[in-house]
Amino acid sequence: MVAASEIRADPVRVSIRDLEKRFSQDVVALRGIDLDVEEGEFVSLVGPSGCGKSTLLRLVAGLDHPTSGKVARPGIDDVPGSVGFVFQDAHLLPWRTARRNVELLLEIQNIPGEERRRRAQEALARVGLEGFEDAYPRQLSGGMKMRVSLARTLVLDPQLFLLDEPFGALDEITREKLNDDFLELTRSSGLTTLFVTHSVTEAVYLSTRVVVISDRPGTVVDEIPVPFTERHRGLRNTPEFVKTCAVVSETLYRGMGER
Ligand code: ADP
Ligand code: MG
Repeated sequence: MVAASEIRADPVRVSIRDLEKRFSQDVVALRGIDLDVEEGEFVSLVGPSGCGKSTLLRLVAGLDHPTSGKVARPGIDDVPGSVGFVFQDAHLLPWRTARRNVELLLEIQNIPGEERRRRAQEALARVGLEGFEDAYPRQLSGGMKMRVSLARTLVLDPQLFLLDEPFGALDEITREKLNDDFLELTRSSGLTTLFVTHSVTEAVYLSTRVVVISDRPGTVVDEIPVPFTERHRGLRNTPEFVKTCAVVSETLYRGMGER
């Protein structure tokens, strides 16, 4: 007989079953959502505005509760700090430097000063911000502020990374650069990532799988596997990339009832 402790850990990091979220009699945000995310996957959620993407992410984070159905995070449910959440706005404290912003959550956990400083510096280096530790938010560009926001979450060593349209407000070039750096970062650390975006191109470029959500009440229209193993600047112009984007777009229209 095999002891429970010897059985290999379940590779599923997020498991959603028949999930419904209702805000009122009239507002059913999500219905019948089934979704699994495996360890190390990068899954994007795309769908029309108001279809419940942010709601779904909040439910996965445990920031809100489902009306019915289940959300589980096998293996990490009871591990503090294992879920990292990044919002569209960087939400930095203007009176704190980049490093002190990244240290914030470590302070709340009473981590000693020396260790805080070291970990914040490491996290800033991981997002390409060496040399900007002492800059204040007003001295940083939009892309750099978002990098600080990523560092602030990474410093806690999350195993599951949830991001709600983090690069949506950035110009295209900044966004593409951040996409590449972010990919490198998530792949090199084996992070499991659930990423909300309204950009089909961004979803296809970043993900191992794209999940398309329908108009409200949001439900999964289809999941599209992304076939590429390598990412590079020219990929977006290849016929296979364009074709994958077209499949995602078609699925989006299908989820909007071709309205
Ligand atoms: P998305 O992120 O896809 O744009 P949201 O998850 O923000 O969509 O919202 C889905 C639907 O649920 C919208 O119709 C929104 O108005 C509604 N909603 C979201 N949060 C609340 C809330 N706290 N109370 C009432 N309705 C809400
Ligand atoms: Mg949203």
